[in-house]
Amino acid sequence: MNKPQDLTLDPENWDQMRALGHQMIDDLFDYWQSIREQKIWRPIPEEVKDFLNLPIPENAQPAEEVYADFKNYVFPYNKGNVHPRFFAWIQGTGTPMGVLADLLASGMNPNTTIGEHSAMYVDRQVVNWCKQLMNFPAEASGILVSGGSMANITALTVARNSFGEEKIRQRGLKAASAQLVLYCSVETHSCIQKAAEIIGLGSEAVRKIGVDDQFQMDVLELESQIQDDLNQGLLPFCVVGTSGTVNTGAIDPLEELLAISKKYGLWFHIDGAYGALAKLDPAYSSRLKAIESADSLAFDLHKWLYVPYEVGCTLIRDADKHREAFAITPNYLLQESRGLSGGLDSINNYGFELSRGFKALKIWMSLKEHGREKYANMIAQNNQQAAYLASLVEGHPDLELMAPVSMSITCFRMIKPDLDESQLKELNREILLRLQEEGIASPSSTILNGKYTLRIANVNQRTRMEDMDILVREVVRIGKEIHSF
Ligand SMILES: *Cc1c(COP(=O)(O)O)cnc(C)c1O
Repeated sequence: MNKPQDLTLDPENWDQMRALGHQMIDDLFDYWQSIREQKIWRPIPEEVKDFLNLPIPENAQPAEEVYADFKNYVFPYNKGNVHPRFFAWIQGTGTPMGVLADLLASGMNPNTTIGEHSAMYVDRQVVNWCKQLMNFPAEASGILVSGGSMANITALTVARNSFGEEKIRQRGLKAASAQLVLYCSVETHSCIQKAAEIIGLGSEAVRKIGVDDQFQMDVLELESQIQDDLNQGLLPFCVVGTSGTVNTGAIDPLEELLAISKKYGLWFHIDGAYGALAKLDPAYSSRLKAIESADSLAFDLHKWLYVPYEVGCTLIRDADKHREAFAITPNYLLQESRGLSGGLDSINNYGFELSRGFKALKIWMSLKEHGREKYANMIAQNNQQAAYLASLVEGHPDLELMAPVSMSITCFRMIKPDLDESQLKELNREILLRLQEEGIASPSSTILNGKYTLRIANVNQRTRMEDMDILVREVVRIGKEIHSF
């Protein structure tokens, strides 16, 4: 037969694509360099939303036009977490080197699960560096995953499968003689409950223990709940402590949780998605010492290591338990001692995902670029900025601090003596929306003890002290515009 023409997705004109690629890099650098002068956020016009709702293109469009569409319809309406005054939720900024590393990682495009190739060794080295950052033992195991939620469910799966002698992995939860019960606090991130639902425990098996006025888990209530559950014939199996709660940055009493876990033979997991890395800040390291003794730890690198999305890490103290929870070797994934199928243990033996990108590279290049000490100083800087913001709030008669400052989260609101709670909520909601809509800053909000509050969470490597002054000044200005004081 006649050979049909060969098709490919590579560019017809490599020089043209190369020039376009250079243009993209230049545009990104212009964007980063001028980010402080730009609005943090802008509303998306209807016409843009319509454009982003068109059906699939049937026909080809020149690469330059595709990029022009990106520049017109996508690039200008960014979320804003690259901006120095982005403080919503808990979202990292990323770094230029991290972005370039992601580009290189995509360019090499190794599926980083199995085989003898460099990405496997970089991934292993980064996991080892993660253990070193957290002072976990060298024999511990770990895996890089997409983020804190995945890191938590990965750890809780190991906890569940290592429970008792019932072989839960093989026989399922029905093999356990009673309901397994997990303990966390009312301030614990929602992904823990979701994880408990997905691994078959069910949300009713999650005991949400109360907190004190610092939003830290009440240890007495925890212990009496464990005893109650034991008396009921249930099977307590895991305590989840949080290092840096999502609402206020609170740190659960980790040493005490560790002691209770040991006393009752429970798995001690720490959700440090946000705040485990505060361990690098000397102001917090002693309070976070118990991280080193946890059975498992989840933490994000796209938050406080400032690398671009997405990457989180799970560390497991007992590497055998970790492997026993996930290892499986189908015929099509046999390992050899030589060749492309040789090399390190498959990463799939330590988690659910099989195909994995080369997300280790952005961490590897970032840690090499700056070194551990610089990161420690950056994290300490964010914590100091939060404390500075709190001091501004406390020194201002129209502002009220809504929670003790822990780590880099500051909760405050504007107050006015003649306004009741619901009017204060409306006032502060309006302040928040105008801050965002005027493109000045992006805090978010939460409810603490029933009261609406602005919430400033700072894992931003571009923030300066002066941004805290600007934030306070603008909150007060907008507040006074809404309600003439
Ligand atoms: C962010 C966060 C999570 C979830 O992590 P993702 O990376 O968003 O999946 C879980 N727990 C805490 C305490 C967090 O701050």
